[in-house]
Amino acid sequence: MLTVSNYHYIRENFTAPYPSIFGLTPESFERQLLLLKGIGTFIHPEDFIHNTDVILKSKKNYILVTFDDGLKEQFELAKPILDRLNIPALFFINSINYLEKKVSLVHKIHLLRSQLSASILLEAIEKAEYNSRLDLIFSEKEKARTHYNFDDPESAYLKYILNFKLSVTQQSKLINDLFERSFDSNTTIKELYMTEEQLIILASEGMLGSHTHSHLALGLLSAKQIHRELAQTKDFLEQLTHSKINYVSYPYGSHEACAKPVPDLAASLGYTIGFSMERGINRGEEDKLLLKRFDCNDLPSGKNEKLFKDEYSFIYK
Ligand SMILES: [Zn+2]
Repeated sequence: MLTVSNYHYIRENFTAPYPSIFGLTPESFERQLLLLKGIGTFIHPEDFIHNTDVILKSKKNYILVTFDDGLKEQFELAKPILDRLNIPALFFINSINYLEKKVSLVHKIHLLRSQLSASILLEAIEKAEYNSRLDLIFSEKEKARTHYNFDDPESAYLKYILNFKLSVTQQSKLINDLFERSFDSNTTIKELYMTEEQLIILASEGMLGSHTHSHLALGLLSAKQIHRELAQTKDFLEQLTHSKINYVSYPYGSHEACAKPVPDLAASLGYTIGFSMERGINRGEEDKLLLKRFDCNDLPSGKNEKLFKDEYSFIYK
């Protein structure tokens, strides 16, 4: 069986005027790796590709460490820990950051929300031209508060408007305008994402995968767009690194984001393994282009470790 542990931000310090970037410090990352070591055996992505069925059906618990979004801090802070502990991992990259020199929309939102209060962002949305359709009615506010129950009400309304009320085009126009006002894209790209040299190193170690071109929820796009999102990154990484890219992790990884024809198109392009964010242990019955992963928060020492302990009740009983 295979347990996959997924990470995003790894940084020393998460303080911000409006904390909205979350992740692990290098110390807590290392602590979690040591706990995971106690319940399984880490596997190298190349060994997994060559022995997929055996590993998935094995009674032994194999563990794969993955990172989404191609963040430089993963290479600079997490990889040295992994190397020291001799633990392999797999890093998933978006090609828009390289081919178009653009910051992914998802990171623009994280950065804006960490620097501007939810009420300032809501005000900016109100001033935008399509504001009349965005006022939340009472039932929508209720829904927003339930859906984002960890957030304060204003942050919940903001997330609800961004994710459920705006089209992707409206959302990116609004966020792009706000982002340009407060951040410099070139500086952000240099600071936030791995360099091409770092990608080449990861590929030479067999630890590089695709997170698609522009970090969109693939299942909501047309087949043509999905194809382009999956193909562009694979081509970019294969040409840059002269290696084969077999792995894909679908942005957001929810049921909707991985809906058909996403896994079929990934297979048709030559991807052999795909990862969603459906939580759970893989035991060999699942579609290899839709393997399950845990977020690091769900795993031992994480904020929601109960979920994992339920799945692993045979160990924790
Ligand atoms: Zn991502």
